[in-house]
Amino acid sequence: MRVYAVPMRTRFRGIDVREGVLLRGDAGWGEWSPFLEYDVEVAEPWLRCAEEAAAGDWPEPLRSWVPVNVTVPAVGAERAHAITAAGGCTTAKVKVAEPGQTLGDDLARVEAVRDALGPGGRVRVDVNGHWDVDEAVAAIRLLDRAAGGLEYVEQPCATVEELAAVRRAVDVPVAADESIRRAADPYRVRDLEAADVAVLKVQPLGGVRACLRIAEDIGLPVVVSSALETSVGIAAGVALAAALPELPYACGLATVQLMTADVVTDSLLPVDGALRVGVPDVGDALLDAVAADPERVAHWEGRLAEVLAWRAARRPGVRQDGRS
Ligand SMILES: [Mg+2]
Repeated sequence: MRVYAVPMRTRFRGIDVREGVLLRGDAGWGEWSPFLEYDVEVAEPWLRCAEEAAAGDWPEPLRSWVPVNVTVPAVGAERAHAITAAGGCTTAKVKVAEPGQTLGDDLARVEAVRDALGPGGRVRVDVNGHWDVDEAVAAIRLLDRAAGGLEYVEQPCATVEELAAVRRAVDVPVAADESIRRAADPYRVRDLEAADVAVLKVQPLGGVRACLRIAEDIGLPVVVSSALETSVGIAAGVALAAALPELPYACGLATVQLMTADVVTDSLLPVDGALRVGVPDVGDALLDAVAADPERVAHWEGRLAEVLAWRAARRPGVRQDGRS
């Protein structure tokens, strides 16, 4: 077990330094990096994903490259333009509705991203559930115009009911993210016809095979997204994207470049807008370079022990398929 701490290039989802654990198993490395505020129950499926990777238990890939989007944090328009232009992708996901910012900031950022992509590119926005229904309907119309057409809007509101209401009111497709990975029942999105696209993240949903089952059952096109991981964690997302029968959208897996360092010799950075499929090579010297200080190592050791104890206490009731 190795604990890493890597500063972010830009503050992202309130994080300045990303921390996590790399676990070595019989077949290689897996990443366990639940966000610091998550409790034991939420962090447990993240561990299943790491264990699956370390055991080498991924399904056969159906493709060798996975198309990805550049992710644009809630930065100013000029910076957004530069990030998009440097991203090497034809699809951009733009963070909007950042607390403390205005819709005007979002419109300027989206316009800049469209300008950087050119008319052939695709622009999607991620709201992380920050709007109510009325705000969402008004903002989506304006952002759709500023973007010269939005590919989709991700998690415009917090609840599944609100997503369904927004979806009925606007023409822009709606994607569900938090409503799947943080919900007691990920299938309510399907049952309430609340989304056109399902965003799946392998760590929160318990691994590649668990996500494949969800993808099959939810009956929506899937976009695989990262949880802001090193290339070890990203490789699990790529393994899912590579195994999906259909992959109509670019995936949100090009996030390694948001971090200032990585743990593999050949980082999973986009080449011509795609990531290659495979198991990355972890470097010992790279692990040493990003090693967390002893106090943080102790924190993660304690956290891992708590998750294992929680899991042991629940057996045999715990389900292994990512559903709760
Ligand atoms: Mg999202």
